[in-house]
Amino acid sequence: MAVDLTKYISSYKDFPKKGILFRDISPLIENPDAFREATNRLAAFAKKEHANLIAAPEARGFIVGSPVAYKLGIGFVPARKKGKLPTATVSASYGLEYGKSTLYMEKKAIKPGDRVVILDDLLATGGTYSATAKLVKQLKGNVVGAGFIIELSALKGRNKIGDVDTMSLIKY
Ligand code: 5GP
Repeated sequence: MAVDLTKYISSYKDFPKKGILFRDISPLIENPDAFREATNRLAAFAKKEHANLIAAPEARGFIVGSPVAYKLGIGFVPARKKGKLPTATVSASYGLEYGKSTLYMEKKAIKPGDRVVILDDLLATGGTYSATAKLVKQLKGNVVGAGFIIELSALKGRNKIGDVDTMSLIKY
């Protein structure tokens, strides 16, 4: 029987700052049935897109993306914060509420024509996704899909994703 994933999301008012309603995937990944269900559904999506790589941003994206890559028998490419990668990198910046942040990817991680699905725990404004997609594109990979456990629809992150096939398991 399908697992109702919405039961495994906790919501916290005013975290990490006043005015933010934080959606937490911890109960979902702590529960083996819910974690397996989310992984299987995202893997089915990435398989449909014929992905040969999963890319995901630090840090919760790693939790979501790695088991999908493992299940499909394909590679996993992390988009990391500054100073973490030992070889030559490309970089892309994105806006935060105050200031900006930058993500990095190793140049050797993606080959031209690779079919890459980007996964993360949550889509809000789409800034994190956009930076990850820019890294893939700089390396001449094709972003063929975007998948999330949670989508905060009111923040319109999908507008930044454009015509890349997108799926989210839970919408608020
Ligand atoms: P965006 O860049 O789309 O505005 O924000 C999405 C990114 O911020 C994701 O990488 C996600 O991990 C993090 N994020 C933003 N809001 C939340 C939230 O309410 N819950 C969780 N778990 N992550 C969030």
